[in-house]
Amino acid sequence: MTEGMTAPYPWQQSAWDSLARRLVRDRLPHAVLLAGPEGLGKGALARHLASALLCRDNAGPEPCGGCDGCRLMTAGNHPDFHHLAPEEGSRVIKVDAVRELSHAMGLKSQFGGYRVAIVAPAERMNTSAANSLLKTLEEPPAGTVLVLVAHQPSRLPATIRSRCQVLQVHAPDATDATHWLRQQGSDAAVELLGVAGNAPLAAQALLEQGAAEVLDALLDQLSAIATGRMAPVDAAGRWSKDQLGLVTALLLSVMMDLARVQGTAVKPRISRLNELPATLDSEQLHGYLDQLLEQRRLADHPLNAQLVLESLFIRWSEICPREAAHG
Ligand SMILES: [Zn+2]
Repeated sequence: MTEGMTAPYPWQQSAWDSLARRLVRDRLPHAVLLAGPEGLGKGALARHLASALLCRDNAGPEPCGGCDGCRLMTAGNHPDFHHLAPEEGSRVIKVDAVRELSHAMGLKSQFGGYRVAIVAPAERMNTSAANSLLKTLEEPPAGTVLVLVAHQPSRLPATIRSRCQVLQVHAPDATDATHWLRQQGSDAAVELLGVAGNAPLAAQALLEQGAAEVLDALLDQLSAIATGRMAPVDAAGRWSKDQLGLVTALLLSVMMDLARVQGTAVKPRISRLNELPATLDSEQLHGYLDQLLEQRRLADHPLNAQLVLESLFIRWSEICPREAAHG
């Protein structure tokens, strides 16, 4: 692997091995769907596959990094490579863009090799765009490989999914994800793995967006509420409507970590967890978890963010042991 190329990430190894085996036998299907949660680097894996297909060096499945094909890919202007994503400022991939892509894929290869296209995230295609792509999938031009990337593959039409070889990219377990983040020097992102569903790149993205500071402030509040130094309503008042989703997700990960370590010698993932009461009633804690899960489900459309936040902090004050409130 050349410098600057990051995929395949360790958790993608089995998906990549399966692609690489087909690649060396020239048995790659015309359409591949890389499916899995966001934050696993599926886009980078798709690019890695595209580079491998367009590499002029035939020594193995990995792109050599030095040939014309690899250099053009790195420079981002390989004439036989196309990348389709929602236009800037738009959330959807429109039919005109798909038509343009289909047209380009039907043209002769400039380098005499494969023509490769990535569509990501594929579930962002609107209905007419998806219908248009389906035509290309039904009659793929020879020598073309289409790589679809989907965070929510269930939102793709079944007719599209059935035309693709589906490769699932799974999140690593907590131990492997932690190990990888520490290797990258992203220690601070480890505490965000719970919110990120163990997707390491999602944890890094959250860190860059300031989620570690939000977690810190939240832990201050939870501890202050538990000891009666802060009123739940005041805690809620410090967050804006826009922060409801993140605050709910962080609260959920804190409470899940609490539930995991309560009454055991297990080390918490969130280091400041020891500042919170250690003797919560397990039934009440699980009731709180249910409330948070339900709230996360509704998080996109809160009727009144401030009321929701207040009810979340009030519930926390209610499940905290009474003696702690005098501490
Ligand atoms: Zn090469």
